[in-house]
Amino acid sequence: MTNWEFSLDCAKKLDQNDELKSFRKLFYLPTFTQSDVIYFTGNSLGLQPKSVQSFIQKELDDWAKFGVEGHVYASNPWMPYHELFTEKIANIVGAKTNEVAVTHSLTTNLHLLMVSFYRPNGKRKKIICEKKAFPSDQYALQSQVQFHNLDPKECIVEIGPREGDYLIRNEDVISKIEELGDELSMVMIGGVNYFTGQIFDMKSITEAGHKQGAKVGFDLAHAAGNINLKLNEWGVDFAAWCSYKYLNSGPGGVSGYYINEKHVINPDIPRFAGWWGHNKEDRFKMPDQFSPIPTAESWQLSNAPVISMAAHLASLEIFEKAGMDKLRNKSISLTNYLEFIINEISEQNNNCLEIITPKDINQRGCQLSIVAHGSNKVLFDLLSKNGVVADWREPNVIRIAPVPLYNNYEDVYRFGEILKKSL
Ligand SMILES: *Cc1c(COP(=O)(O)O)cnc(C)c1O
Repeated sequence: MTNWEFSLDCAKKLDQNDELKSFRKLFYLPTFTQSDVIYFTGNSLGLQPKSVQSFIQKELDDWAKFGVEGHVYASNPWMPYHELFTEKIANIVGAKTNEVAVTHSLTTNLHLLMVSFYRPNGKRKKIICEKKAFPSDQYALQSQVQFHNLDPKECIVEIGPREGDYLIRNEDVISKIEELGDELSMVMIGGVNYFTGQIFDMKSITEAGHKQGAKVGFDLAHAAGNINLKLNEWGVDFAAWCSYKYLNSGPGGVSGYYINEKHVINPDIPRFAGWWGHNKEDRFKMPDQFSPIPTAESWQLSNAPVISMAAHLASLEIFEKAGMDKLRNKSISLTNYLEFIINEISEQNNNCLEIITPKDINQRGCQLSIVAHGSNKVLFDLLSKNGVVADWREPNVIRIAPVPLYNNYEDVYRFGEILKKSL
């Protein structure tokens, strides 16, 4: 960090030494902006891999050629299509292959998982979640509580930052878990907070929840493909994520989910079932009794949405080539460079910029959330006008996410130049 400079020269040198630099060419960079784009919203919708088109075309061709027989004769037969994802996605979230599956959408999967793991019983009915969780998660939690004829106001316990802070302290999450004790039924938190970019300590939260006899699950929408995850090792009960943010699989793309292997084979865990969760041997004999596949696949309701999953497959092949560890290493360095440049600019401008994302690299992914003190949306509009695609939250927070697969150090430098001028 000591020899970093806020200069084009330095950025170019860092790019030259980047072992993942060739991956940028595998993606389409948007062309809609007047100036060259600086795309920093991979945390919202990842860019399109150029290979997606041929992956989808292959399925269209097989559909044209085989009709229904594509379930068996397509070059990637559709009947077991979802199995192509198991190992790739297990590697990304640190799970065993019997613990993951890819299908449905994120909020749908959260509901299906909570049907299984939020089982209020007597006074054990409370849920801990983070304050200002992503709205879909809030609605999902509230409606799950109501589904059990309980009162969300009484059952949902939100943990927020302390007065004057932006971040939630891990110790506060843990002490709330201990305080609720045997009233706690479930902890459900975003693994990486979408607003601040803060990583929660999923290992210690899981341990603390289990100590009180509760189930612990995470929404990994902002974590999957962004940070290293070890869901199985941490003993997490369940998790779900979407594929269209860091996993670059297209708008509304399929979600993935994880269920710890100890629950997967536990017949006492109820679930909402569909035919694609039924064991593969006699699925097509159409028996009237549900007999689950002995893996996380048994939570699948429907047959695979192959066309949209083809995009996910294209993207996961790129992840496999790059490797999560290398991606994470570049991500840390790229975000550190961004932080360095923002701090330089801030110092030259009466410290008007405050990064609210944790400074500790172990507590953040690639996203930085910046409070622009004394600025309003005019600043953001200036950034947009100059080609920066970022995210603005009222009253004055800018969220930017340099993504290691397709962003580079020059993007970060150019962003800095535009930010400096715009201030
Ligand atoms: C993006 C996101 C969602 C979106 O849910 P969908 O069902 O895919 O529309 C939900 N939760 C979190 C935390 C998110 O970041």
